[in-house]
Amino acid sequence: MIDLYNFTIKFLRHNGAIAEEKNGALEAVFPADLAKTLKTDEYSDIVFSPDEKNGELMSFDSDLFKKLPKVFNEKGKFSAIKVPSPHIHIDKLKKRITDKIIFQNAVFSAGENEEKAISYLLAFFKFTAFSDERREGVMSILLNEFNLSSARFGLEQLDDLTEIFERPLKNTKKMDNEKILNALCAAPKAIAREELEDFIQSANRRLNRDTKRIHEYYRTLIAETLQFIEKKSLGQKEKANSLNKIQAIETELRWKTDDLITKYNIDIRIDPISFIRIETVAPIFWLTIKRRKLTRLFPLTYNPLLKNFDNLPCESCFNPGNIHWVCDDKAHIICDKCFKTCPKCAKNYCGACHKNRCPKCGFIDNDY
Ligand SMILES: [Zn+2]
Ligand SMILES: [Zn+2]
Ligand SMILES: [Zn+2]
Repeated sequence: MIDLYNFTIKFLRHNGAIAEEKNGALEAVFPADLAKTLKTDEYSDIVFSPDEKNGELMSFDSDLFKKLPKVFNEKGKFSAIKVPSPHIHIDKLKKRITDKIIFQNAVFSAGENEEKAISYLLAFFKFTAFSDERREGVMSILLNEFNLSSARFGLEQLDDLTEIFERPLKNTKKMDNEKILNALCAAPKAIAREELEDFIQSANRRLNRDTKRIHEYYRTLIAETLQFIEKKSLGQKEKANSLNKIQAIETELRWKTDDLITKYNIDIRIDPISFIRIETVAPIFWLTIKRRKLTRLFPLTYNPLLKNFDNLPCESCFNPGNIHWVCDDKAHIICDKCFKTCPKCAKNYCGACHKNRCPKCGFIDNDY
């Protein structure tokens, strides 16, 4: 991954500035437009340490850095690159398919293979989780636009891509945009939850701790009131008052518990940052999937970026995974989580066909 110093040099030169390296700092001459956009002098020194006083500071928190998106404008949001097709031994690869793909409830065979111009969308998202605390981060997803397989994609893997910008390929095969967008909206949710696992667990721990505390406190109050009723020989009116008091305590306990749940509830916001379409020619292996009387052809793709087969997609949540079920109605491929068991009548059903509503008893599973 390119560091901020080298990024700044590239960025300035790309935008028409002169940038000379000088002892870990930069002597820069900005074109008038760029100086104006960045609100800097046309002749400026740029320094990279807050201890350096003579120059404008460039760090991830600096004002100068925060002005850079103005220069990118819309330019950085979408780009396309071409990645050369890999040199691979098709027969060897084909033998590995049976190790790679396992269906829990269906069989398959690998038939024809071919090379196809296909594309991937490398999408970057920012996630922000709000609870009583706040956490944010950036995640990236590589979505196969031909069969909607998805994979996590580490930022460090970008290095392989930075040098290969070229004119885009023509006639790549991909799903229609609506399906791609649908997959792209669904996939980040679960990935953000994975990234935020410790944050979510910590909020749950605090919720449990606080709930336990207030329960203990109010239960003690109730026990004391009961003891009071038992010990003293109270008149009817006094007894009724004490029982009312217990009811009031119980109501307050419910309110406090609800307040805690609201306090530690986690909202996750996901904002798209940028997209890179990666066009390539990849080997495709056509799988014939059989589930009861249904058969379905599905293209298994070899991913030239990850140098491995793509996982089959879950056609409900579009998250990367390697446990696959096949649904009875349309032979959808679905993951363990989306091959659901109804909590009420225990029927298994497909999340892609029925979302979260059991087709047998109509129960809506809001936990999903
Ligand atoms: Zn799923
Ligand atoms: Zn049901
Ligand atoms: Zn289905």
